[in-house]
Amino acid sequence: MLRIILALLLLTSAFAQQGTPPAGPVPTIATKAASLQKMPGYFPLYWEDKAGKLWLEIDKFDVEFLYVDSMPAGMGSNDLGLDRGQIGGSRIVRFERSGPKVLLIQPNYRYRSITDDAAERRAADQSFAQSVLWGFDVQAEEGGRVLVDATQFYLRDAHHIPSTLQRANNGTFRADLTRSAFYLPRTKNFPKNTEVEATLTFTGENPGGFVRDVTPNPEAITVREHHSFVELPGPGFRPRVFDPRSGFIVSAFTDYAAPLDGRMPQRFILRHRLQKKNPAAAVSEAVQPIVYYLDPGAPEPIRSALLAGARWWNQAFEAAGYKDAFHVELLPDGADPMDVRYNLIQWVHRSTRGWSYGAAISDPRTGEIIKGQVTLGSLRARQDYMIFEGLLAPYLDGKTIPAELSRTVLARMRQLAAHEVGHTLGLAHNFAASVKDRASVMDYPPPFVKLNASGVPDLSDAYATGIGAWDKIAIDFGYRDFPAGTDEKKQLDAILRDATARGFIFISDADARPEGGAHPLAHLWDSGTNAVDELNRILDVRAKALSRFSANVIREGEPLSTLEDVLVPIYLLHRYQTEAASKVLGGLYYTYAVRGDGQKITERIPGPEQRRALEALLHTIEPGALTLSPSILALIPPRAEGYYHNRKDFHNRTGLTFDPIGAAESAASLTVGLILNPQRAARLVEYHAEDPNSPGLIEVIDRLMAVTLRVRPGPGLSAEVQRAVGAVVLYDLMVLAANENAPAEVRAIAMFKLTALREWATAEAGADENTRAFFAWAAEQVKRFEANPKDIGIPKPADPPPGQPIGCESN
Ligand SMILES: [Zn+2]
Repeated sequence: MLRIILALLLLTSAFAQQGTPPAGPVPTIATKAASLQKMPGYFPLYWEDKAGKLWLEIDKFDVEFLYVDSMPAGMGSNDLGLDRGQIGGSRIVRFERSGPKVLLIQPNYRYRSITDDAAERRAADQSFAQSVLWGFDVQAEEGGRVLVDATQFYLRDAHHIPSTLQRANNGTFRADLTRSAFYLPRTKNFPKNTEVEATLTFTGENPGGFVRDVTPNPEAITVREHHSFVELPGPGFRPRVFDPRSGFIVSAFTDYAAPLDGRMPQRFILRHRLQKKNPAAAVSEAVQPIVYYLDPGAPEPIRSALLAGARWWNQAFEAAGYKDAFHVELLPDGADPMDVRYNLIQWVHRSTRGWSYGAAISDPRTGEIIKGQVTLGSLRARQDYMIFEGLLAPYLDGKTIPAELSRTVLARMRQLAAHEVGHTLGLAHNFAASVKDRASVMDYPPPFVKLNASGVPDLSDAYATGIGAWDKIAIDFGYRDFPAGTDEKKQLDAILRDATARGFIFISDADARPEGGAHPLAHLWDSGTNAVDELNRILDVRAKALSRFSANVIREGEPLSTLEDVLVPIYLLHRYQTEAASKVLGGLYYTYAVRGDGQKITERIPGPEQRRALEALLHTIEPGALTLSPSILALIPPRAEGYYHNRKDFHNRTGLTFDPIGAAESAASLTVGLILNPQRAARLVEYHAEDPNSPGLIEVIDRLMAVTLRVRPGPGLSAEVQRAVGAVVLYDLMVLAANENAPAEVRAIAMFKLTALREWATAEAGADENTRAFFAWAAEQVKRFEANPKDIGIPKPADPPPGQPIGCESN
C-alpha cells in the first residue's frame, strides 16, 4: 500500500509542469470537446488525436467503483515476475470534487464501522488513513459534469516496474514518456466499464541478466499497462461467513461497530455470485451461470485439455444442486482479455519455467469475486514431458514415440487448469487431499509412477481425472443456495461435519511446507496414503528408472551432454516425498477443529512410525542410492558447444566435467537439512521429554551419524559419495549448533554430538589414507568450530537444482 502511494507521489511531481487549471472562465464540455473524438461509456472518454491526449468526463461524484490495473503485455521472465495478464492492483475508489480539483480517493475498507449511525461510521473513517490516488484539474464543466485531462494518469506506470527491476537487482529504469503512448485497439468504453491501455517504455542503465534474457534491447523495455474503471456489482449478493474447515480463502476486515459481545474481525469467503433460479428445487439452473473464457493463445491439443480440466468444476456445482451453472468457453475473437467482466484463463510464456497462478478481483466489502484471472505457464508441459522421457527412455531405434508421453502431459494440463480455476472460485490448497485417494485438484499432484510387471515405469495412472470428492464438499459449502427459511449456519456446519465423518480433512499452505511444517498428512507433491511407505516405494521406482537410464532418454541427433538435463529430475525423483516423510519425524497430527465439532484436535505420532520415517530418510542418503553407475557417467560429456550449462543442472565442483559427487552432495543436503531442521529438532526434544517412547534429538543425531560420518567406507566412488554425505551432515550439525533461533537444549545437543564426533574421529584409524584424511579433517573442523562457534568454516553444500516451478512464490 505504502509503495503505491510513494510511487504515485513521485510521478505526480514529475508531471508538475503539466495539467494546471485553465486561466480565465472554465469552458463547457461541449465547447472543449467539440473537436475531440467521443467514446461514450461508463465514464465517457474523449480522444484528442492531434495531441495524443485522452480526456475523461467525470459525471459521477462520490459514487464508488472498482479501479483495476493490469499488464496485458509483460516481460516473459519468471524471475522478474512481470507476466502477461498480471493483475496489478484492484481497489474501490470514488471521485470527489473540491473547487477546481477532482481527487480519486481510495477509502479504507479494512477498518470499518458497519452501522446506521453516521457519527460512528465517521469515527472509523477518520481514524484510519485513506489514499488519494490522483488529483485531476477541471478543464471544462457543464451540468454537474467535468472534463479532465487524464493523459498523465493513464500514461503513468501503475505496475511499479522500475522498483520491481531494482528489487531484483536488474538495473535502474524509469518511464520514458517520449516512447510511451496510448494503445487505442484496447482503449474502449462500455456501459459498465471504461478500459484504457497504454504502451509504456522504460529506459535505463545496467540492465541485469534477467532483463537481457528477455528484451530485444535491454536498455528499452516496452510493455503495456491497462486500466479499468468498473461499476461495482449491484445488491443481492449474500456474503458467506468463513469457516477455517471449509477450504475457502478468507476475505477479512475489522468492524469497529461490533457489539461488545460480538467479534470485531469479520471473515467472509471469496466466492462468485451464484443463485438458483429455484432455490426450493433439489436441482436448479442458475439465475446466471459462472462463465470462464480460455485464451485461444493455448495451442491444441493443450487447448482442449485446458477446457476439459476447467470444466470439471461443473461436476462440483452439480453436486451442490446446480444444473449447467459453470461454463468454460474459448474467448471470442475481439474480446479483450483484460476486460474485467470476463473470467479468464490465460496461457503465458516465459523464458524459464515458473508457477501458474489463480488470482481473483473481489469486492472487499463482501468477498464477491468479480473476475477470476488464471495464468498458466506454458513451460510446465515441456518440463513434464522431459521427466516422462527420463522415466520411459522412449527413443529406441526405429520405434515411434509412445503416445503415453503426450497423453500424460495432457492429463497434467487438465489438473493444472482445474487447480488454478479452483483458486479463482475462492478455494485454497488442500494439501491433505492426496492421502485420501487424490480427493482434490487443489493439492499439488506429482505423477504417480508405478512399475509394471517387467519393472518398467508405468504412467497409466499418473494423474487423477475429474473433480475430487473434497472439491465437491468445498463447493457445496461455498455455493449451495438454500431455500428460504433454512438455518444456513447449521446446514453449512452439517456439510463440514459430514466431511469429517467421511474422513476428509483440510490442511492448507503454512502447515504443509517442509520448513517447520509438522503435519504428517499434508505435503506438497506427495502421493499415497502414508508418506513413509510412499518414500520407500518411490526410492524403488527411482532405482529402476536410474538402472534403465540411457541415451534412449534423448532423441537421435541431440547432444549427449543434454542427458544431464533429463537426469536431474530422475535422480531427484524422491525429493518431495522425502520432504513429506520428514514431517512424520517430530510431527504432529492435527485438524483446524472448532470448539464443539468433535474432530480429533491433535495426536502425537507413535515412536515406531517416527523411527520408520527416519530410516526411510536415511535410505535416501545411502551411497548405494546416490552413487551413479559408471554406464551413466560414461554417457555424459561436458556441455556441447551451443548447449550451455544452466541452473537447472547440477552444481559442478570439477570444472566443466559432470560431477557425480557434487550431485550426491546436493541430494544429501536436501534430506539432512530436513532431518536437522531446527524446529523439528526442538519438537524432537519436547516430544521425547513428554514421552520417552518418542525418538529424541540425541537418538536421531546418533542414528544419522552412525550411517554417515561414523562409517568406514570401502573403496570406489561410493566411498567418496559417503564422505561427501558426511561433510553435509557435519555442516548441518554445525549450522544447528550455531542457530541462534534454536532452543538452547537443541544447540547443546548438537554441540555435544559434534564434540563426541571429534573425539571418536581423532582416535579412529580408518582403513586407508582417504578415510584417515577425512576423519582427521572432520575432527579438525569440529575443533575449530568449538573454538569459534560463530564460524562454520566449511562451505555450504551445493544446492540441488530447482525442482518446483522456478521462482519464489507458489500457487
Ligand atoms: Zn495453487
